[in-house]
Amino acid sequence: MSLTRRDLVVQGALATGALLTASRLFAQPPAPAPAAAPPELVPLWEELRGGVGTFTASGGTIGWLVTPDATVVVDTQMPDPARLFLAGLRERTARKIDLVINTHHHWDHTGGNGVLRPEAISIVAHANVPALQRRAAEKGDLPPQTYADTTFTDAWRRDLGAEAVSARYFGPAHTGGDIVVHFEKADVVHMGDLVFNRLYPVIDRPAGASIRGWIEVLEKAAAHHGTSPRYLFGHARPGQPVAGTHADLLYQRDYFTALLDYARKGLAAGRSVEEIAAAEALPGFPDHAGRGAMLSLAANLRLACEELAGG
Ligand SMILES: [Zn+2]
Repeated sequence: MSLTRRDLVVQGALATGALLTASRLFAQPPAPAPAAAPPELVPLWEELRGGVGTFTASGGTIGWLVTPDATVVVDTQMPDPARLFLAGLRERTARKIDLVINTHHHWDHTGGNGVLRPEAISIVAHANVPALQRRAAEKGDLPPQTYADTTFTDAWRRDLGAEAVSARYFGPAHTGGDIVVHFEKADVVHMGDLVFNRLYPVIDRPAGASIRGWIEVLEKAAAHHGTSPRYLFGHARPGQPVAGTHADLLYQRDYFTALLDYARKGLAAGRSVEEIAAAEALPGFPDHAGRGAMLSLAANLRLACEELAGG
């Protein structure tokens, strides 16, 4: 299963429930930022601690740092919400953006890179991201892409005055290029799409995703960062927060463990993939919701069966 424009927009719209259709979004010609707010988008700024906060409008949650010493942006949503973000950022600081960091390549996290590029000194991502982004853009017929100018394979860190930001790659999970970003002094960790808070997640196997890998990555990230940080999530079920705790990482891990167990037992009992995928809820996880075909329990179970079959 590959991510199409429509899937990405549906996925992106989930963050706030914004009613943004594919035709509305992609019919927009590039315009200089900042632009007036499209009426569908409701930008929400939230300050957490230490100059770090979140921005949601449509697409993956943006994490930001604004201090006298630094401006950092983690993920960029898509062009329209990125213009809204930049307009709001300019109300908070006149400082150039020291760093844009992409948690992974998906369009709803990198689509606004081009809007922020003229204001940004550097764009950072995992070494696998540019190729994944290029391939996704070709397959999904996406608009022109703006790529990271700085990449790394395992770990990366930068001092920014009173704050320091670091990023780490723990292995394949949601894609083959997910990183975890830590604002060290504020102690806020952006998980990107490694956590879909109570939402059936996208498992992008063509881009290198692995459910077993995802379980390991969550355990490693939870062990590495511990219980003190505030954690930010790429997406959340409507009504659920995009910021949470260590326990939410372990809950996401437990969801994947239960998903694989359910698929494994079904296959062992001789049930077909479609019979397994017809489950209405995953035992133990009735609080999860989905939207559309891709963010659904059925899609998750099909991919779990595929991974178990070694396909
Ligand atoms: Zn994603």
